[in-house]
Amino acid sequence: MAVLSHALALAALLAGEPELRMLHPLPPEHGQRSVPAAASTSSSPSAGAPSSASVSPERAPVPYDDAVPLPFEPRDYAPQAASPRRKVGTSTTIFVNFDGVEIGECSPSNSHENCHWLKKNTTFDPWSGTFAQRVAILDAMRSLATDFGIRITGERPPYDEPYMMVVYGGDSVEEEALGRAPAGDCWDDLPNQIAYVFLDGERADWVNGGASTAMHESAHTWGFDHLGLENTMMSPAGDNTLVKYLDGCAQIVDDVQFTPTEEPSCPEINLELCGLSDFQNDVATLKLLFGNPYVDDRAPTLELVSPYDGYYAQGPATFDVILEVHDDLHPQVYELEIAVPGLIDEPQLRRAADPSFEIQGMPVGEWTFDLVLRDAAGNEATLSFDVSIGEDAPVLDDGCACAASSAARRGLGGLGGLGGAGGLLLLLLAIPALAPRRRRPRGPLTR
Ligand SMILES: [Zn+2]
Repeated sequence: MAVLSHALALAALLAGEPELRMLHPLPPEHGQRSVPAAASTSSSPSAGAPSSASVSPERAPVPYDDAVPLPFEPRDYAPQAASPRRKVGTSTTIFVNFDGVEIGECSPSNSHENCHWLKKNTTFDPWSGTFAQRVAILDAMRSLATDFGIRITGERPPYDEPYMMVVYGGDSVEEEALGRAPAGDCWDDLPNQIAYVFLDGERADWVNGGASTAMHESAHTWGFDHLGLENTMMSPAGDNTLVKYLDGCAQIVDDVQFTPTEEPSCPEINLELCGLSDFQNDVATLKLLFGNPYVDDRAPTLELVSPYDGYYAQGPATFDVILEVHDDLHPQVYELEIAVPGLIDEPQLRRAADPSFEIQGMPVGEWTFDLVLRDAAGNEATLSFDVSIGEDAPVLDDGCACAASSAARRGLGGLGGLGGAGGLLLLLLAIPALAPRRRRPRGPLTR
């Protein structure tokens, strides 16, 4: 399969395309589940239609049946259990955990300790969707949170930062709910709670619906109730569409029949923002709790995993350049510029969630790679490293160069003729760091 994707990239290069624009180079067997990263732009609440990317056969909204009242008074626990704390009006973080997790037992729930009073003592396997789908879900979530101080990341924040965790896994059919979350924490006194999105199994292809469900469950952890309006974020039923938080006041309801509630979770806030204790204004509440939009001014970090700086190989050389990226909004689609002065003077541009690439047919010489990585907000990281490509095969410790030289020959096999003498090819790697996980979705837990 890797050979096929390389052949495609090669064909693009031979056709004279100056830039490689392949987003998310996924193996074809994942095609049925693959979706474009731009899921966030393909749907609107008024349209109410599934995106062209991923259409589930079911049409009727599925009841969330998800908000579970706290079995305690949040303010009683806030002083000791909410550490690290968060100030009302300052930004919050949602960590979406696709990696699988063992949830122990505690009360209130604690993202830092992976424990909960809901779904306690439960093991969640890593989510079975692709890496590209994870990025698309996170992108769609960010599009829903763009007006508020809400950071959304797929990487667990450090221990000293408050963050809410969305566990993305489990089967919504078995659970008879799309997700589940603790309700009633009106002022987000407990900023480190845990919510669940049960969208593995047959609804693992939900991207827009995955993002909506994750933001819906997150909102329950901030005290939000269900509203008696279809096609909005806090509707009591959901489907595979992207729905927005309501900018206005609407009746809080107890069920999918829109029975008006007699016990709103947060009557004080509702009275303040809507003038009625049983009406809720999603957008005003989010601004009250989390303030202005989260600004990404943190630069990503870019590290070279392979080859090492000063790497020697026999030319023409073929090798992978494996890069590791971290960012406050990781994963996302990054832009990478690749230049090798004297060889690639016009930087090659690629956009990918994993910027790693392969190089083939690098000629003899001393070369410097100059890489610039840009996140979606334009923050940059740079990385330079040298490689030395010589006439001779590298001499290994055992005194025999046969292994290295045969590897170099194998890399050129079948491609040298197409590329021409001295032809240099930049090829895309199909997300090497996550490839093993895709093949073995039930692999060991990473956290
Ligand atoms: Zn709900």
